[in-house]
This record gives sequence, C-alpha cells and structure tokens, in this order.
Amino acid sequence: MTGTLHVIGAGVAGLACAVSATQAGRKVVVYESAKHAGGRCRSFFDSQLNTTIDNGSHAILGANPAVFKYLATIGAEEELVPVEHTGEIPFLDLENKAHWTLRPNAGLFPKWIFDRARRAPDTTAKDYVKGLSLLAADKSETVDATLSQTGAAWRTFWEPLTTAVMNTPPSSASAHILGKALRQTMTTWRGGLRSYVPKTSLQQTFIDPALKFLESAGAPIYFDAPVSIGTDNARVIELQTRSEKIEISDGESVALAVTPWAPVTKPFLDEAFNPEPSSIVNVHYKVDTADATPAMIGIVGGTSQWLFCRHGLISVTVSADQELARMEHDVIAEKLWPDVRMALDLSDSLTPPNRVIIERRATPLQDPAFAINRPGPRTNTENLFLAGDWVDTGLPCTLESAVRSGVKVAELAQNLP
Ligand SMILES: Cc1cc2nc3c(=O)[nH]c(=O)nc-3n(C[C@H](O)[C@H](O)[C@H](O)COP(=O)(O)OP(=O)(O)OC[C@H]3O[C@@H](n4cnc5c(N)ncnc54)[C@H](O)[C@@H]3O)c2cc1C
Repeated sequence: MTGTLHVIGAGVAGLACAVSATQAGRKVVVYESAKHAGGRCRSFFDSQLNTTIDNGSHAILGANPAVFKYLATIGAEEELVPVEHTGEIPFLDLENKAHWTLRPNAGLFPKWIFDRARRAPDTTAKDYVKGLSLLAADKSETVDATLSQTGAAWRTFWEPLTTAVMNTPPSSASAHILGKALRQTMTTWRGGLRSYVPKTSLQQTFIDPALKFLESAGAPIYFDAPVSIGTDNARVIELQTRSEKIEISDGESVALAVTPWAPVTKPFLDEAFNPEPSSIVNVHYKVDTADATPAMIGIVGGTSQWLFCRHGLISVTVSADQELARMEHDVIAEKLWPDVRMALDLSDSLTPPNRVIIERRATPLQDPAFAINRPGPRTNTENLFLAGDWVDTGLPCTLESAVRSGVKVAELAQNLP
C-alpha cells in the first residue's frame, strides 16, 4: 500500500496532482502558504472596482487537452467557453487600422492557413508553413533565428503568438519549446489554435471546483501553512509548518508544487538551473457596458497585446514587457487606455477606474538556457517529486504544463515502491 501523498502548494499544478492522486485512491494532504488557493491563477474581490477580478486574464488553447480533462474531472468543463462562440480570435492592427479574424479550423490538419479569409491580411500560406521548422529546432535555438523569413505573418501571427504563449520575446524565446506547443496544436480535433476563456473567473473555473472535489474526497487542505522540508539526504523525513512537525514515514511521498524561486525548492535544483523571471502586466478597467459574451481581441502595433471584455470590465494583458512592468501603476493605466479606446472605438478620453496588477514572476523567461536546464519531476531525494508549469513537460509554462506536471507526479508517487 502506498501511503499519504503530501502536496506542497495549491496552485493549479498542486491541485491537479492532488485531484489525480485522490482519484487513484491515494490519501492526500495539501499545504498552501497563502490564505487562498490558486497561486498565479487566482481571482479576488477588488473593493475599489467593486467587482471580482482575475490576477491576469488567462486564455486556453484547444491544444491544451490536459486542462480540459482536469476541468471535466472536477466538474467545471462548462466554465470554459470558446471566444466568439467558436474560438476564433479577432485582431486589430493599431498602426494601419486593419481588422481580421484568425479562424483556425477544427480537426487535425490546419487547412485554415490555405484560406485567405481565415488568416491575417497580406500573409501567404507559405508564411505559416515555414513555422514547421520550429518542430525540428534544437534546444539552443531562438524563435526569431528559426522563423526570420515569415513575411507579414511575422508581425501579425508569429510574434504575438510567441510572446503570448512563451511570455518571452521571440529574440530570446526557445524555438524548441514553441515547436512542442505547435506540434500539440496539430494533435487535437478541437482545433488546436482555437481560444477559450473562463465564463466568469479563474477562481470559479480552475480553483473552487477542485477544492470542492478534494473536500468531498476527504483530502484536507491547510492554508496559511508554508512548509519547509527536512531530509536525511536520501528521503524526505519530515515537513515543518509554522506550528507542526509532520513525520514522513516509509511509503509516503511529497509533491513539491511551488515555483522555482521559492526558498523551499532551491536545495533540490541543479545549480545550472537558474531561471530568470518574466513579467505579465494586466490592467482591468471598469466600464459601463452591458454584459456580453466574453470576448478576446488581439492587438498588433500598440503597447497592449490582448483585450479581454467581460462583465463590465475591459482587461488588457501585456506579456514579457519588462520595461512596462517597471513603470508606476497610474502611468501604465494611462499608457494603455488609448489602445483600448482605439481598438473598441470608445469615445471616453478619460481613463476609467482601474486596477493594475504586475506579476513580476508570471513565468520563467523561456529561453534556450531554460530549455536546456529545465528539471524533470524526479529529484535525488527518492520520495520527493517536483511539479509546476516550469518542470520539464516539454511545453511552455502555461496551465497545460502545470496540470500535466501535477498529474505526472501523482503517477510517479503512486508507483513508488
Ligand atoms: C498574469 C498571468 C497570466 C497568465 N496567462 C496565462 C494564460 O493565458 N494561459 C495559460 O495557460 N497560462 C497563463 N499563465 C500561467 C499560469 O497561470 C501558470 O502556468 C500556472 O498558474 C502555474 O501554476 P503552478 O501551480 O505551477 O504554480 P503557482 O500558481 O505559482 O502555485 C504555487 C503555489 O505554491 C504556494 N507555495 C509557495 N511556497 C510554498 C511553501 N513553502 N509551502 C506551501 N505552499 C507554498 C504558492 O503560494 C502558490 O499557491 C499566466 C500567469 C500569469 C501570472
């Protein structure tokens, strides 16, 4: 009989690990240092805006099967909806006011790239087919070196796609990791590049249903419980919270599902693995609009990159712009509002009430050094496993990677002798 699995961290990786292990009949206990679950994928009530907001808008691609499976397991599949009902993404170029809609088809073969009406203006099918070179990229290559000759599609497709998926500028993003994500888009009938967003909030989609699932399965979660790990070098022998020492006996294992920068992780990482953090800036503007279907718009040629509209909020996302992330909140809100006005054709020149959230450690910078040194889930400590979006699933650091890593650790811990 395998003993208790102790999961440290209640972000999506820790929750997916706990859900999967519980499903397999394992006894599970979860410890979370914050007073709430969700980690980098959370929602909270903002008293200034008088509404619930997400720490940052999240989009899920059709090519994220582990996320869909996780949602089905926790009974939250209905919480994720395709953008514009079909997962097609409207785009706007702020420089020349061109509008288009990226219309990826369902099915495995990306036939949309051969249809002018489904791709960006002035691009050719060849500009997209050239992206196949990413599939063969080795771990030392960057995206811009691999995809330098993709014509107009560079600006309207490859650059925004890389920045969004990798949270890393194409000049330093790993072509190898993006290639793995691209391969995924061709392995799902759902339409790999179709986009989905939470109907209400991150919390209601990814977090609360998982907490409910674990509660009904009898798996306790301790909040406000930062854990440190004690080993005898070969095995974890104890966990220490602020108030308690928990002995880890034979047959028990530990899933460490926190970030690579958390002090508790450091002793278990190779020195060569020292990832640089990359930020994501989100601004939520409170606007007076009727509730509509959640919408997502890609922006080219401005500072803003993506707009998300939902329940009287317009939210702007800017990934991997470290300079923007260093600015004052009010300066950021003023700087991005003109992009929103132009994109949505709004007459309001005054910047509406807003909340700026800068996630400085949104993900690691996913450059070639990261691709080369990224650790797998096993450690030198036999009953300790690593989970998290940054652990080597081959894929970019997204919810898909977080879920996969958590599920993988549940499997490995289950098979521990
Ligand atoms: C602004 C933003 C936008 C994003 N957009 C997208 C998107 O559009 N699509 C997408 O797929 N992904 C997106 N992501 C990435 C996605 O949110 C992450 O990949 C995912 O949430 C990572 O989950 P995780 O469980 O690996 O890590 P985390 O969420 O960081 O969870 C780690 C948890 O461990 C806890 N912890 C730390 N130390 C301890 C300790 N000692 N003891 C106990 N607990 C501890 C932390 O409090 C935290 O809750 C975005 C991220 C951000 C920040």
